[in-house]
Amino acid sequence: MWLLEQLSIRPLGTSWKSNSTHFRRIMELIPNLHWFKGLGSNIYLMANDDGHILVDTGSPWDTNRIYKYFDDHGLDVKAISVILITHADIDHSGSAAALQAASDAKVVAGEKTAELIKLGKSPNHLPRFVQRLADLIHYAAVPEEAIEVVDNQEFIGSLDGWQAVATPGHCIDHFSYFLHSEGLLFAGDALYAWGQLDIGRSFFTGDQDEARRSAVALLKLAPAVIACGHGPPVMDHMADETMLLSRRLQS
Ligand SMILES: [Zn+2]
Repeated sequence: MWLLEQLSIRPLGTSWKSNSTHFRRIMELIPNLHWFKGLGSNIYLMANDDGHILVDTGSPWDTNRIYKYFDDHGLDVKAISVILITHADIDHSGSAAALQAASDAKVVAGEKTAELIKLGKSPNHLPRFVQRLADLIHYAAVPEEAIEVVDNQEFIGSLDGWQAVATPGHCIDHFSYFLHSEGLLFAGDALYAWGQLDIGRSFFTGDQDEARRSAVALLKLAPAVIACGHGPPVMDHMADETMLLSRRLQS
């Protein structure tokens, strides 16, 4: 899906009309949390006074739109102190290098994802013909010294109360991030919110069994808000939605 979206976008340097649906922004879910709808995937910002935290960075074509969003909302890109990366697909990690360079932020990622973002490469999890196309498109590489590698179930050293949860399935190395104090889960592509909460079931999901196990593990955290990589954040009727999905995945 993301690749189709990437292929249909305008070339760099052309302007977007302000009424483009891609420009539809943005709401504040809970204080300090911003949801930015990138061209291919969601970008989230926790604009804390003591340092902004970004979850995923969108595609390379989102960089200037992110800067504009910061400007429009009186936010300072230099205040980004940590960038959490769920996985290395171009639509999630494509602006990481630019945003890291602009802010000198720490970039947190799983081990294999770290290897890929150092090269500006998407992971291998697509059907062969789509993968070949994806492999042709690189994005700017994140410098090694800026990267902090996380393990499963680990509290992130540089972030109080944030847990990294290994959620393979969409691709081999995929992490979700859980902020305990808010019950706020950034699921990346371990859960989707297209219409209803679900796991990825298309051929873009590398391993369906792993994806199911990862989703069940996330739902057991009993999140109050699920901010997915695609689709609007889920916060209404949470108990119903999560219970239904949990049952379906475990039946
Ligand atoms: Zn995605």
